[in-house]
Amino acid sequence: MSEAQRAALERVALAMAGRGWAVFPIMPNRKWPPAWHRKDTCPGRGPCAAGHVTPESLATTDPETITRVWATAPYNVAVFPGKSGWHVIDCDIRKPDEAPGLDGWEELQALAAARGGPLPDTWTTSTPSGGRQLWYPVPPGVRLGSTVKWIAEHVDTRGWGGYALAPGSVREDGAYELLDDTEGPPLAGWLVQVSVKLPPTANSGRTQKPVAAPSAYAAKALREEPDRVRNAPPGQRNKTLSTAAYALGQLVGARLLDEHSARTELRAAVAAWNTPDSAVKDDGVIETSLAAGIDNPRRITPRHGTRRAA
Ligand SMILES: [Zn+2]
Repeated sequence: MSEAQRAALERVALAMAGRGWAVFPIMPNRKWPPAWHRKDTCPGRGPCAAGHVTPESLATTDPETITRVWATAPYNVAVFPGKSGWHVIDCDIRKPDEAPGLDGWEELQALAAARGGPLPDTWTTSTPSGGRQLWYPVPPGVRLGSTVKWIAEHVDTRGWGGYALAPGSVREDGAYELLDDTEGPPLAGWLVQVSVKLPPTANSGRTQKPVAAPSAYAAKALREEPDRVRNAPPGQRNKTLSTAAYALGQLVGARLLDEHSARTELRAAVAAWNTPDSAVKDDGVIETSLAAGIDNPRRITPRHGTRRAA
């Protein structure tokens, strides 16, 4: 590893910090791991004296710290987008053993077309494997986590809890490069929407008990969930809609309900209160939450025999 490469990576780290992006060192020639200990091997000293701290919380824009750290090794440069107010859409290629089909970039374009949403040019990097990463500022007031295979099969997102390597970082199979230095607009609304994952607590109030007749149960849910949406007070509509769509999605995932019926009933329910403007947003909530539910099928165990005595 040459001194020139170390100096180049130091300049990359300083340049990213100059953009206001919080950086952290990654082991040389790798995309993982960070040059830091894991929580389960925390020595409890130094920055961790009062409890383990993560690379994300340590990531910095401070030039002095960066110069001191990168003086010691040719570290690759991780940027933590969430902390920096940015969001990275990570489009992967298909693996060699996958059947032919769309790659991540094509999936993202198809998703944009399906939602009528813009996909403006923005700061874009390429990965050694041939993927591309689109970097967008996050609109004010929005906080996005990271997702894996969530918005599409080959598209991940990197917000809070995730990082992306800066262009100039190197792996044995190649370098991350800057493809486009356009200063893009804030992340489009439709991309914000598809990047949101339901918090795991969203449905925690619903326990999964055995049911007597799965098909009757599904039919009942198909009536009741849209009714909840119809009757939701204005401040509760979004949450009620996502909860209902998720619940029906779980039944679709369990093959107790067909997806078309679920979508149609939900759309009919929101039609009671939406406007042309909110219809696009409501559709997004329906799609996202239905998909989330389908990915997490409700486990229905038909209940046989007599009811257990209490
Ligand atoms: Zn620690």
